[in-house]
Amino acid sequence: MELIDTRELEEPPGSVEEPPGSAEEPPGAWSHIAPELWNDWRWQLSHRLRTTEDFARVVRLTDEEREALAAPGHFRVAVTPYFASLMDPDDPNCPIRRQVIPTTAELTPAEWEYEDSLAEDAHSPVPGLVHRYPDRVLMLVTAQCASYCRFCTRSRLVGDAHAQMGFRVYEQQLAYIAAHPQVRDVLLSGGDPLLLAPKVLQYLLSRLRAIPHVEIIRIGTRVPVFLPQRVTDDLVQMLRAYHPLWMNIHFNHPKEVSPEVERALAKLADAGIPLGSQTVLLAGINDCPNVITALVHRLVRNRVRPYYLYQCDMVRGTDHFRTPVQKGIEIMESLRGHTSGYAIPTFVIDAPGGGGKVPILPNYLLSMSERRVVVRNYEGFICSYEQPSHYVSHDPHTCPYCKARRGEGTQAGVRGLLAGEARSIEPAGWQEAHQREAYVAEPVHSMEIPAR
Ligand SMILES: *Cc1c(COP(=O)(O)O)cnc(C)c1O
Repeated sequence: MELIDTRELEEPPGSVEEPPGSAEEPPGAWSHIAPELWNDWRWQLSHRLRTTEDFARVVRLTDEEREALAAPGHFRVAVTPYFASLMDPDDPNCPIRRQVIPTTAELTPAEWEYEDSLAEDAHSPVPGLVHRYPDRVLMLVTAQCASYCRFCTRSRLVGDAHAQMGFRVYEQQLAYIAAHPQVRDVLLSGGDPLLLAPKVLQYLLSRLRAIPHVEIIRIGTRVPVFLPQRVTDDLVQMLRAYHPLWMNIHFNHPKEVSPEVERALAKLADAGIPLGSQTVLLAGINDCPNVITALVHRLVRNRVRPYYLYQCDMVRGTDHFRTPVQKGIEIMESLRGHTSGYAIPTFVIDAPGGGGKVPILPNYLLSMSERRVVVRNYEGFICSYEQPSHYVSHDPHTCPYCKARRGEGTQAGVRGLLAGEARSIEPAGWQEAHQREAYVAEPVHSMEIPAR
């Protein structure tokens, strides 16, 4: 009795080529374009929409959009035809459109906004390399993106057509990483690393892989969203040679997860690349628990794990995109317990001035004593958790992992206080402020008691 049809086992799953014609036909305003061109990432890049005339052909522009597009010196505008085809031509509040077409609001910076909100430049030991955390670095490898987000955190660098990252800079970045054995995780970002010429990207990946202490490489990208056509079989074959390779993709709205994007995500996931998403909380675009829930559900269905939900950085010209912090807490409250833990990102504020990512979440811990902890769940159910009566404390002196731990030095922070490596963390000038002059009280000669 044959229980298994072995013919099915001979064909590895996912090896079947897409039948021709299953790729998307160009939509609406682009129906005159041949599908081979529409589905070619090079055509998409060289036909990006940049000017008032380009956009006016596909959407009904508002006065604010026209004025901003005509204004001198605005942050670079370019949108792939593919991404523009997702826009609602009649809705000025369309979440796709608002991300990439400028409005006059971005031309009037607020006084508290920064050019370099995260103080990345101050944390760069060599150009384009940000070393803020103890064991990982951010490597900016290009200033180009497939399309330009109006709320870009790196608008000070990104979009500059003349910005030369180039091999001279790469060599300095690679030399720094090679000379710092604590760096076990390298994030390629920019700009968008997937816009590099494949040979250049491959060069960077192979050079990083040749550094023994670099354990994982990550790529931060929006190409699968703006230009899913770029995720070709060739590109994926090249990437999978550099495992362990992780990818974080910037998604902001469920409308971005189109059939083209789903195919690109499947290719990447089938190549064994763990996929994460990073989302920026944006006023009028995704500042709604139900929009975020729809987004994270679509993502996990496509094997993308929601990683971070960012409070929008305080970058010049983005005040109109920022939401109050409690909006993020409300969204987190609406996710935890209501849906799969896999679908829940960490909500973070990337602290201005280079403080790094700080997680923010609703309070679940209501109170605590030696014996019990009182917690509440997402439904408002409140209960006590009994603490163990005989906990034998972990002994770091006999634990091989504690002994082998590489010290983080002055970056050990609160963890270092818990481990007894330091006794305090003091703000600058704290010692001086508490060095009071010795005070000698005047001797008291008499004490008058006031008459009643
Ligand atoms: C976000 C970020 C990282 C990575 O942080 P993770 O929490 O590990 O994802 C590293 N370096 C810099 C400068 C960053 O901004």
